[in-house]
Amino acid sequence: MNYSFRKKNKIVKYVVIHYTGMKNLKLAYDKLSNINSDVSIHYLISRNGLIYNLLCPKYKAWHAGISKWKKNTNINDYSIGIELENKGHEDKYSNFTKKQYLSLKELAGFLKKNYFITENNFIFHSDISPNRKKDPGEKFNLNKIGINRFKKLNSIKNTTHKINEMLSLYGFHKSYIKYHKEYCIMSVKRSLNYKSISPNISKSFIDNFYNLLFR
Ligand SMILES: [Zn+2]
Repeated sequence: MNYSFRKKNKIVKYVVIHYTGMKNLKLAYDKLSNINSDVSIHYLISRNGLIYNLLCPKYKAWHAGISKWKKNTNINDYSIGIELENKGHEDKYSNFTKKQYLSLKELAGFLKKNYFITENNFIFHSDISPNRKKDPGEKFNLNKIGINRFKKLNSIKNTTHKINEMLSLYGFHKSYIKYHKEYCIMSVKRSLNYKSISPNISKSFIDNFYNLLFR
């Protein structure tokens, strides 16, 4: 099992949600717990809803890789990672199971309470590494565990937001908005559970994005 010690000045505030992107649970479990792999995770949730706690969140797991969110870089420093068993986009990307959502909901409640994670800080791997990652992807729906990431934005509702401003309010790091805007758009579409993911910015996309942030 790979891990690092957390630095005192870097407090856990995010939960990053992933999918395993592997053929089966055993392969994912073996990779995530193998010291010779370059990755690790705090929690893994199987398709039948079992929660495996591989690492205590007081230690840093290696799940995010190169990543930025809001004004933070290296999101492993600030986060707890959860992997959901799913073959992923490169294989047979399938819906997450009811049992996975039930277990994730329970785990999210535990983390909110014990690590003071706020709902707006439940984020996706595709948000913090939009140019590299698609997980957990457009088939994942955070509303199913009763979490609303953007409810605090209601107070700054304003009908004149430009697209870059909206991407920034969503939480993308400014360098991603500058250099990887098309990937940021696709990441937002995954959050919106679009069936087909392209970087096109249509009027209906802007409306949906606006409703996501400010509804
Ligand atoms: Zn991931």
